[in-house]
Parts: sequence; structure tokens; C-alpha cells
Amino acid sequence: MQSAKASKSMKKLLRVERSTGRHWVGDGFPVQTLFSYSNLGEAISPFLLFDYAGPAEFTPTEQQRGVGSHPHRGFETVTIVYSGEVEHRDSSGGGGKIGPGDVQWMTAASGLVHEEFHGHDFARQGGMLEMVQLWVNLPARDKMSPPRYQSISNSQIPAVNLPDKQGIVRVIAGQFDGVEGPAHTFTPVNVWDVRLDGVHETDFAVPDGYTTLLAVLKGSLRIASGDAGSETLGAAEIARFDPAGEHIRIESAQNATALLLSGEPIREPIVGSGPFVMNSASEIRQAMADYQSGKMGHMA
Ligand code: MN
Repeated sequence: MQSAKASKSMKKLLRVERSTGRHWVGDGFPVQTLFSYSNLGEAISPFLLFDYAGPAEFTPTEQQRGVGSHPHRGFETVTIVYSGEVEHRDSSGGGGKIGPGDVQWMTAASGLVHEEFHGHDFARQGGMLEMVQLWVNLPARDKMSPPRYQSISNSQIPAVNLPDKQGIVRVIAGQFDGVEGPAHTFTPVNVWDVRLDGVHETDFAVPDGYTTLLAVLKGSLRIASGDAGSETLGAAEIARFDPAGEHIRIESAQNATALLLSGEPIREPIVGSGPFVMNSASEIRQAMADYQSGKMGHMA
């Protein structure tokens, strides 16, 4: 006979993902890819890609560095700025400039063309750039819906104080401790921007069955890995947890900035090529044809 359900179970650490080196996106974004569906596939669904740009110092210039006109179809790009300024324009008329603490949540869906550059003032003054671009997949039923753009300012993102001055959680999407984040998502997704220091064991409740990834950007964190073990993560390292279980445990933290990502897996085939992520190879061929024939629009 099985015993009654024990106290809430902890999600075990599956693996620590690390960057395999830096590459440039255009001439503006020195990026480390911390995870990608290209090798992890459905194990990280609904997330597809995590690019960490910087921290990198840029000298003043009259020319805005960045990446010129390119398309996307089938998913969302989420840009979170920690330092510096990013300007964006797209063919659906969306656009804007975001700075530290701000987020742009762009739904490419059926397709658009956009460009991403350093902000004009930031480029002229120079300074430290640090940002994350996360790709979130869309379920098949929403891949061909119209593009949309959510510009979320720092002041719109609620910050929840953890007890005993252990830190704060900024709720970008989903909910934390009953507090709801401003981003509208197509499937259940939590994006929590976490600052932790002086932690003496703190648990984060994350729904059973959700893909769970803890990305450390700065500082360090010690997490319980299961079976009484623990693991220390430093900058640009991501803990990937077993979806089974109701919480993760952080044992200690030193000035840590981290993103805690969780979401309900989208259980559908993932077929991607460059800026397109669909469900089949024929849909990718169609995306390429639609882009080349101008159906995803043009920059004004
Ligand atoms: Mn892009």
C-alpha cells in the first residue's frame, strides 16, 4: 500500500546548461546562447532560446549598432533590458525604446520583419549593455495569428518582497505569490526576474509538470539538487529541473540576479530554421517563401 502523499516534493536538478561561447548578433549584441531548442528540443518547451547579451561596454558612436531588418514567424521574442537601451521597429507598426527594467514582448506569430538597435542616446553616450532575449514558442493554433507588440515599462512590473529581506521577485509574466505580471501569454508561462542576497533557504513554488529553468546572470546561487545534494551556479549558467515536483529550493545566494522561467510544455513537434519555428518542414518552406515574396511586410 502506498503511503499518503508526503510533504510537497522538490523538483530535482536535471542538468546545468552553460554557454558554448560568445557570438555577435549584428554588430550590437555580443551574445551567449544559454539554451536552445536546437539541442534540447521539447525538454525546454514552451521556451525555445535564451540569448544573454553582455554585459559589454560600448564606446560612444554616432552610428547605432544592432541588427538590421530580419523576419520571424511562429513564436514570441521577449527582450529584457538590465543595462543600456534597445530600440526596435517592426513592419506591423510596432516599436519603441526600452531601458533598464523594461521589457518588450513581441509576438511574431504569422510573421513580421523587424530591426533591433542600441537606443540613439545610449549609442551616443556609450556605456554598459546587458540584456536577455528569450524566445517563447506558440502552440500550432496561434502560430498564424496576427503579430502584436507589448511594451512593458519597469513601473508596470510588480515587485514582490521576499520575507527576511532575502530579495525581490519582479513578476514579468504569470503569477508569483498571488501577484500577476503584466505580460499576456498564449500558454501558461511564468517569467520572474529575481534578485537574491543573504538567503537562508527559500523555496519557490512552481507548478508540478512545468518546465523549470533558473538562469543566473550575475552573482551566484546554491540550489538543492535533490537527494540532499546541492550545486552552485554562477553567471551565465542555467539550472534545468525535472518538471515533476512542486517547488525548487535555493539554499544561499550572493548578490544574485536570475530569471526563473517556468511554463506548461507545448506537446507539439518543433521544426525550426533560423528566424522561423513551426511544426513541420513544409511550414518552414512556406515561411521562407512568404518572407521572400514580402508577405511578412517591409520596414517603412
Ligand atoms: Mn529579431
